Amino acid sequence: MAEQSTIGKTPLVKILGRPGSATAYAIRDYLHRSDVPFEWIQLSSDEQARMQAGVDHLQDPRLPVCIFADGTRIECPSLRQITEKLGWFRSPLHSEYDLAIYGAGPAGLSAAVYGASEGLTTVLIERFAVGGQAGSSSKIENYLGFPNGISGADLAERAREQANRFGAEILLAREGVRGEFADGKGIGYLADGTKIVARSAICATGVSYRRLGVPHEEHYFGAGLYYGAGASEAKLVKDQHVIVVGGGNSAGQAALHFAPLASRVSLVIRGDTLKKTLSQYLIERIYSTPNVEVLARTAVTRLVGENCLQEVVLKHRDTGEERTIKSHWLFACIGGEPHTQWAEEVGIVRDEAGYLVTGPDLIRAGQRPAHWPLDRDPYYLETSVPGMFAAGDVRHGSVKRCASAVGEGAMAVAFVHRYLAQG
Ligand SMILES: Cc1cc2nc3c(=O)[nH]c(=O)nc-3n(C[C@H](O)[C@H](O)[C@H](O)COP(=O)(O)OP(=O)(O)OC[C@H]3O[C@@H](n4cnc5c(N)ncnc54)[C@H](O)[C@@H]3O)c2cc1C
Repeated sequence: MAEQSTIGKTPLVKILGRPGSATAYAIRDYLHRSDVPFEWIQLSSDEQARMQAGVDHLQDPRLPVCIFADGTRIECPSLRQITEKLGWFRSPLHSEYDLAIYGAGPAGLSAAVYGASEGLTTVLIERFAVGGQAGSSSKIENYLGFPNGISGADLAERAREQANRFGAEILLAREGVRGEFADGKGIGYLADGTKIVARSAICATGVSYRRLGVPHEEHYFGAGLYYGAGASEAKLVKDQHVIVVGGGNSAGQAALHFAPLASRVSLVIRGDTLKKTLSQYLIERIYSTPNVEVLARTAVTRLVGENCLQEVVLKHRDTGEERTIKSHWLFACIGGEPHTQWAEEVGIVRDEAGYLVTGPDLIRAGQRPAHWPLDRDPYYLETSVPGMFAAGDVRHGSVKRCASAVGEGAMAVAFVHRYLAQG
């Protein structure tokens, strides 16, 4: 079985692997989000594994094997190895930056475009691929200027190119894990030990997908269970039953994206109706797509299968009635949560859910936040540490939309200028 992405482009990478391989899924997802055309060759027997991938059998730990256009073969590669092979892995060029941005979703990419184009030495650090949550969306339909919609991966790739053109440095497959503030500078420590020193910083790390909270969930990740809309997987679900969990726009979009190929799509929602949580245009499309069913007041309670997902057990929240669906495809689009423990460690004010509190929201009963050292209020989008800003979904009170994340990224840069000029 062979599948191609991105359609119509010559594949730059061939991935050969066994079905239900979490590593192969991570590679497909990474390449898809990075807009790199690839070919997925699913091996289904020991003989195929020997003949096509040059390994001993289907369970060989050297799978998946990636073969690049120049003939380079890498067995079971890490995302960092792939990034290096694509020529995207680089070390920071400067010992100090005007602006360090963490997270290359819409907010971070926008901040990078504005920061670099306005003359700031700018570095953008991303732990995975560019695009963030938006990069996982098959089609963003409400983004200004694209009347027919645009895929998240395409939007992200355009923004990456634009940021590059203005001279922003982009460090991919690098995760910020810890921060420090001293002498008016921020020091960001990356997971691989790299240190980034900057006079100002923007946290645009967005949110990570929330888990379903069912037993042995991790076991099925990438082997039948996927978080987000699974844009890289759409072509693989042909004639199969797909389950999407979630009542928000991202779940609705995912259901409609799978419907043309899948035999059936079950959209599992906690509430009574889609009306409260979904945009009207999506509701209308869902109810007029014959092979999409909405299972209201229902939750996933159990996942079944040895090496990969075989069955999903659902339970009605009122009647307790259980129903088992045979499916290898479960997509959880149930929102996200911010990962801002690093901020707590350095005393940055967060709300109860972990979102970073900024600007006017930091003023309580007319008082500035504790330990605020300056004789001015925090700027809009500035956190409780001067010079450290937050933009997009990670920010307390943010709107959770692409356009607003992009707007906040641009706006944060305006305050960065003010901070660098006046303190
Ligand atoms: C499937 C789906 C469909 C959607 N469709 C729409 C739509 O049609 N219209 C719309 O307006 N909105 C849509 N949204 C919402 C929109 O995508 C988000 O509001 C937007 O992406 C938020 O942007 P952001 O930059 O704030 O954060 P994110 O997009 O979450 O990006 C954050 C980035 O930070 C990175 N990161 C996290 N931690 C670290 C770290 N420690 N170090 C380095 N990098 C880190 C992440 O890997 C990620 O790339 C959709 C969301 C999803 C999931």
